[in-house]
Amino acid sequence: FKGYIDGIPKETDMELNFSNNIQFNQQLPSQALLVKNLYLSCDPYMRGRMRDFHGSYIPPFLPSKALEGFGVSKVIQSDNPNFKAGHYISGFTGWEEYSIITKTDQLRKIEPDDHIPLSFHLGLLGMPGFTAYAGFYEVCSPKSGEYVFVSAASGAVGQLVGQLAKLHGCYVVGSAGSKEKVELLKSKLGFDEAFNYKEELDLDAALKRYFPEGIDIYFDNVGGDMLDAALLNMKIHGRIAVCGMISQQSISDPKGIHNLSSLIYKRIRMQGFLQSDYLNLYPKFLEQVSSFYKQGKIVYFEDMNEGLESAPAAFVGLFLGKNVGKQVIRVAHE
Ligand code: NDP
Repeated sequence: FKGYIDGIPKETDMELNFSNNIQFNQQLPSQALLVKNLYLSCDPYMRGRMRDFHGSYIPPFLPSKALEGFGVSKVIQSDNPNFKAGHYISGFTGWEEYSIITKTDQLRKIEPDDHIPLSFHLGLLGMPGFTAYAGFYEVCSPKSGEYVFVSAASGAVGQLVGQLAKLHGCYVVGSAGSKEKVELLKSKLGFDEAFNYKEELDLDAALKRYFPEGIDIYFDNVGGDMLDAALLNMKIHGRIAVCGMISQQSISDPKGIHNLSSLIYKRIRMQGFLQSDYLNLYPKFLEQVSSFYKQGKIVYFEDMNEGLESAPAAFVGLFLGKNVGKQVIRVAHE
């Protein structure tokens, strides 16, 4: 990571460096692990760490250092009794081929499972999947038969929200930014309807077309104009789970929202949340969502880029809508 940025991230904000400062069989710091990184996760929140802002829930990246993010790694050497060489783990690691991890308290040991790809621990069974699970069940208070709208619906979080809502007996519509994504939502992910928001001149009219009776639950991944239009189309006592605002994330002067008075007229509950507030539910989530997947009740799409050198483009692609499904980088083969 070269230094703090404005606007949408560019590939040139990052550079590939070669270094040999990780040695095998070196004395590790107390409790630390030396790991080989297999998969790295590209997540929109990482954009927030590219500015020099200390008021967030996570500190900014350090310029001239490797980026860090969620990864799936194999333990090579360990000074920690909870992890042994050969174990697979998920948690924070560096955007590097090998990393020394000193903060080990949040790492999870992965029990290898022939039916679940390891990389799914960054998506379906990782932070984005858990965001969908906690956001939908805990924040949206869903009831069978309700009308649910999901934005960025084909992404890492959105695709699971829509499928959980369908399993819950809801009617689900998703928005996404390309014809290919809309097709995926309808033909493979089980959404009742989907539309390409980039082709809609009037988002309010689009939502009225798909929800003539109004929306009970809006799972908001984008903020901005879509949130404004959704506010106009909520039903009385509707719920809005404010998960992310990717449309506003790279704008230094975000747009105002005009329709907040709908919150009063329609007694809407609009709640921001962080998945990390619900971590006590993680074991239940892993069990339930793995079982849905193994029973074929849900599917999950990944967008896999090959090689660490492809990481900058993959990350930037999140903000251009290039990823179809969860964006992952394969750094090394298992
Ligand atoms: P995705 O896999 O959905 O990737 C990002 C997608 O956002 C892109 O593919 C693109 O899809 C869409 N997008 C990009 N720019 C814009 C824009 N200007 N306007 C509208 N859509 C845009 O990402 P995730 O599923 O990982 O994350 C989804 C949201 O959830 C993000 O806002 C993220 O910050 C948030 N999040 C929140 C968490 C929490 O704890 N609250 C935890 C994890 C994620 P398209 O082609 O459809 O436009």
